[in-house]
Amino acid sequence: MTLDGGLADLLDLQDVDLAIDRLLHQRQTLPVLAEYQNQSGERDRLAAVIAEKRGELRGLELDLDKAEGELDILETKLKESETRLFAGGMNARETEQKRLEVQALRGQQATMESRVLELIEVVDPLRSDLEKLEEELASRNERVGLLENEISMAWAEIDAQIARREATKNELAQPIPPDLMILYEQLRRSKEGVAVGRLVNGTCGGCHLALSIPEQQEASEWEPPRCLHCMRILVL
Ligand SMILES: [Zn+2]
Repeated sequence: MTLDGGLADLLDLQDVDLAIDRLLHQRQTLPVLAEYQNQSGERDRLAAVIAEKRGELRGLELDLDKAEGELDILETKLKESETRLFAGGMNARETEQKRLEVQALRGQQATMESRVLELIEVVDPLRSDLEKLEEELASRNERVGLLENEISMAWAEIDAQIARREATKNELAQPIPPDLMILYEQLRRSKEGVAVGRLVNGTCGGCHLALSIPEQQEASEWEPPRCLHCMRILVL
């Protein structure tokens, strides 16, 4: 094979490689990705708020259970004492003691009732708050799920386009000598994807700088020809 043929193939190969680069860039910069990051960030923030409020609610519910349990005990004790008082048959001192006991228990009962009410007043709004937040979380999760689908579909489409170009690239690379391929890949890495330029009207297609006639002569003495300014492979 001739080197000239190889160099022209290299330009075609580079077109395909640049198209792949653009597709890879497109894959990473889909507008839907920014939307997804935004939505999933909001979703995570909301989930953290819910976890915190759930913990708070659990603590308050335990306090409420405890207060209600204590209120039950007080009510039972009060009923027993009242029954004993109403039944009579005690002497005056015992009756007075029982009366004072009933009075004290009523005081404790009233205190515990207001404690229970206080807790209910905090627990109820917190429960309905949490319900609303959980509904919001469910709809955010749904939105995030839809965006994930949208991203998967867009990526599948881009990946299919990349695969088609990879196949073309493999075909184009077949006749190119291995040493030239290595040089091409090295230059692509160090020259922002552009390893080869065509010399058009004395100007390098890679760096867009002009080469004088003696410079063009010198460039052509390289194997393969290279631009004297940017050292890219030059297709003369
Ligand atoms: Zn150049």
